[in-house]
Parts: sequence; structure tokens; C-alpha cells
Amino acid sequence: MPDEQLWSTRLIAEYAYCPRLFYLEQVEGIDIPSADTAEGDYIHRRVAHPGQPLPDDAETPKKVSSLTITSRELGLTATIDLTEISGHNAVPVEYRRGRPRKLSTASETTAENGGERQVVEPWPTDRIQIGLQCLLLEEHGYKVESGIIYYAAEKRRLEIKWGSNLRAEALSTLKEAQACAGGPRPPPLLNSHKCPRCSLQPFCLPDEINYERPIGAPEDTSPRRIWPPREDGIQVIVQQEGTRLGIAGKCIKIEEGNGKLLKEIPITSVESLTLVGYVQISTQALHRLASRGIPIAYLSSSGRLVAMVDPLDSVSANVRRSQIKILEQPSKCLELASALVSSKILNQRTILMRNHPNLPDGVAEDLLGSARVAGEAASIESVRGAEGQAAAVYFAHFHGLLKEPFATLFRKNGRRRRPPPDPANCCLSMAYTMLTHECTAALRLARLEPSIGIFHVSRPGRPALSLDLMEPFRPLIADSITLMALNRGELTEGHFQSTAAGCLLTDTGRRIFFDLYNRRMETEITHPVFKYRLSYRRMLTLHSRMISAWMVGDISSLSFLTTR
Ligand code: SF4
Repeated sequence: MPDEQLWSTRLIAEYAYCPRLFYLEQVEGIDIPSADTAEGDYIHRRVAHPGQPLPDDAETPKKVSSLTITSRELGLTATIDLTEISGHNAVPVEYRRGRPRKLSTASETTAENGGERQVVEPWPTDRIQIGLQCLLLEEHGYKVESGIIYYAAEKRRLEIKWGSNLRAEALSTLKEAQACAGGPRPPPLLNSHKCPRCSLQPFCLPDEINYERPIGAPEDTSPRRIWPPREDGIQVIVQQEGTRLGIAGKCIKIEEGNGKLLKEIPITSVESLTLVGYVQISTQALHRLASRGIPIAYLSSSGRLVAMVDPLDSVSANVRRSQIKILEQPSKCLELASALVSSKILNQRTILMRNHPNLPDGVAEDLLGSARVAGEAASIESVRGAEGQAAAVYFAHFHGLLKEPFATLFRKNGRRRRPPPDPANCCLSMAYTMLTHECTAALRLARLEPSIGIFHVSRPGRPALSLDLMEPFRPLIADSITLMALNRGELTEGHFQSTAAGCLLTDTGRRIFFDLYNRRMETEITHPVFKYRLSYRRMLTLHSRMISAWMVGDISSLSFLTTR
């Protein structure tokens, strides 16, 4: 028998705040911790003691914290912060981190402080949550006359009377929310003051989605830059053979094989972890990282992506279902492939035009033609044809972007992957591998399945959608890193070694390369459509979430980053 759906009173109340917030959390299971949610947890610490017994003596008043109460008939469940029970009477008490709603026109003079005080009332969502809890308590045989909201910022208890009006409001909100959950994802609020403080904003992208929707924001309104241009966290790369990672309190500790401590990094600041070669990690560290949703990539010493640890909370059945449905529609597949490949070719053209001192006549025009063919293609095969043609032209002239001796070697070898025969090919392969890992992490954050792609054929072990997303970014990130590393002298011939697996970076070379890679990912650029600045790393996150939004039907068309 299938599970019955029970709705949490907290989330139903959130529906009254924003239907999309309710849908993302309740239906899609998106949960993004923020400073506000952490503070909320702190405020609730005193009442978060589930499992307390109910009073056995009906006459003894008792305060029960974290009382879980459920009604199958209403399809509703609640964990009430505190329930004051006396005989058959019950009063639900909810704790809030913030302040109550201030009524701007009213004020009153109080006897206690002798001064003027603004009149306040509970927020509508708090009122509805108390109403739903009263409904549940009544169904369990308690007599309820009111509920309490405690606003911690002002240390103030506000009483909410339980009666027919609140009952009607709570029941109609419950009904509307249940109907909403069975439908498509609701659109974001338009230009709302609620969004900048919403913890789901980086996933929801309200202004960006509204901007791209046909009925979106006015044309001259660019999205507000609500989320910071860079990640706050650290991308940890550990590459020394024999190094061990474990847990020390709230930190990840990195030790040499002989136990000498190399570094301790607070887990809260880790954004992702990459292990290169034979680096060991403890099960405890794996658990702690997974519980925080931090992905781990395992790379071979030569920089090949071998495995990824993917925390379970990155799955949303709803988004995955939309992804599969979209992939069954050839016209949609073509739309995405065309947008990705035409942007990639335009970016390749920009790199050549910017950096090639003697670009032969006609090359830029050829690439523009291929971008146009990809953008207007009638089939994915035509997009692949245009991409292959552009890649041949681009890499035929790539040596012209390099300094000697790397230019001569690349001209002789051309673009070759396995094994990479020269330093430029080695850097390109390494940068593409790192980029694949970042694209995979970005897609998982957008709740998409990286192995099911559109332009790249899916096959076992291949993150086809990551390779798709990566297309426009290859020239801007990976190719640029290669040029920066070799032309600015950050990597010299001494940083490479010839092995049976081809031309590889030495340990020192790899360290320099990863440093350069990270600097590039943190470089900020202006988004050509949204007009705000973001790091390349955030651009990947933004575009993977826009793909997700397109797949679930939030927006009807897609475009990708191009630079001039
Ligand atoms: S960001 Fe705005 S539109 Fe999106 S879920 Fe939050 S409040 Fe709703």
C-alpha cells in the first residue's frame, strides 16, 4: 500500500508566505541551510526534546516540548515546539527567532514603560500555523482556546485566539496547499521584498526566472543581485600521495602518512573536496561531509575522474522526472543542444580573436557560421556536425595562442586526449576533468541527474549532462587556464614529465595548476543578460539551475554565457 501523504503545519503555513517556497521544500525536498535557519535552530534548542511523555495525571499541568501530533483525516502533522497541557486543555506555543509584525499606523502607551509602543501582531504565517496546530489538538480531544507565538528577538509572547475565523483560514490554506502540491511548480514572487531573505533564493532564482518568463519583469528591470558573486566556502583539493583525511571536532584534519598534521579546515567552510591519487579518507569524514551535502571527487594521479561521492539529499524526484520527460522530446533536446553548442562556438571564436596575434582571414567568419548553423539546426546530428567542424577549425589554430616551445608541440600533435602527448594537451585534459567535476556538483545542486545528457550520449559512468553543461565554459575556463599557465610562465617544461601515461604534471606542477584553476573559477565576470557580476564557479551554478528551471517549465527558453 502506498504511503499516505502527511503535510507539515510549518510548510502549509509557508504556503501562505510563498506558494513556491512551500512547493520547493515540501514537494521537491529542497533544503538550503542559511545563517537564519541556523539561528532558528539555536532559538529552538530549549524546546527540541522529542519523545517526552504526555502527563499521566490529567490534573497536573505540564509543558511538553516537541510534541508530534498527526491527523490522517486532515493529512496533517505537526511537531509543536511547546504544548502547555492542563487537564483536557492545551495551548500550543511556537518559538520564532524574529520579531512580530508592526502595525505602522497604530501605537499605544503602556503603563509599564510609560512610553509609546508600537502595536504588534503575529505574522499571518504564524497565525495559520497556530490555527493548524489547534485543529490537530482538537482532533486529539483537547479543548483549545488560544495559541501563543514567542518572538525571541523581543522576548514577547503574543496570544492568538482560536475560533471560527482562524479555523476557516487554516482549513482553506491547507486545501489550497494540497492542491498546489499536485500541480506544477508555482512561479516565483515578482520583485518581492521576501526573496532577499529567503534561504531558497539561490535555488529559486526569482528575479532571473521572472526575467526569462514571457510575462516576466518589465524589460528595463534587470534582476537584483541577491546572492553573493562568489562562494564563501573553500574548494579543497588534496593531492599528496599517502595523505590522510579524518575528523577532529568540527574540522577536517589533513595529515601526512606519518601522522604529521598538515591542516585543519572547519567543515562548515568546505564547499567541495577533490582527492587526487592515493589519498585516504576516513568513514567518519565521509559521513560528516555527506551530511552537509558536500560532494567528493576522486581523481587519478593523471587527473582522470574516477568516482564521485554524491550525498543523497541532492535528489529530487520531481526534477528528475521532468528531466526524463524533456529528454524524450526531440525538439527540446535540440533546443538545449543548439543553445549549448552555439554559445561554445561563439566563446571559441572570442578566445581566438582575443589571443591570436595573426588569426588568418576567414577563421572568425567560419566559426560565426558554425555557431549560426548550430543555433538554427533542424536536428541534433546537424548540431554535432557544426560542433565538430568548429572544433577542427579552433584547434587547428590553437597553437597560435601558445608561446614556444608549447606552440610547436601542439601544432605537431593537435588536440589529443589519451594519452596527452605534450604540456598544452596535458593542461587542457586536466582542466576539462576539473570542470567536469564542478559541472557535476553544480547539476546535483540543481537536483539534476548528471548521467542523463542530451548532446553527449549517455553511457555507463559518463556524466553526459555535465559534459553538456561544460560546453560553453570549456573555452572560457579550461582553455584560458591552459593559456595563462603556459604563456605567463606559471608552468614551465620542468613542471611536466614524460610517462607511459603520456605527458603529466609533476607534484609541484599540479599544485601550481590547481591554484591557477581556483583563481580562474573565482574570477568574476558580468552576466550578459542579468548584468550582475558572478564568479565562473557561480556561473556554473546559475546555468545548471536555469537548465533545471527550463526542464520543470519555469522558463520557456535557454541561453548560455558568452563573452565578447
Ligand atoms: S526566493 Fe522568493 S519566490 Fe523564491 S521561494 Fe523564496 S520567497 Fe518564494
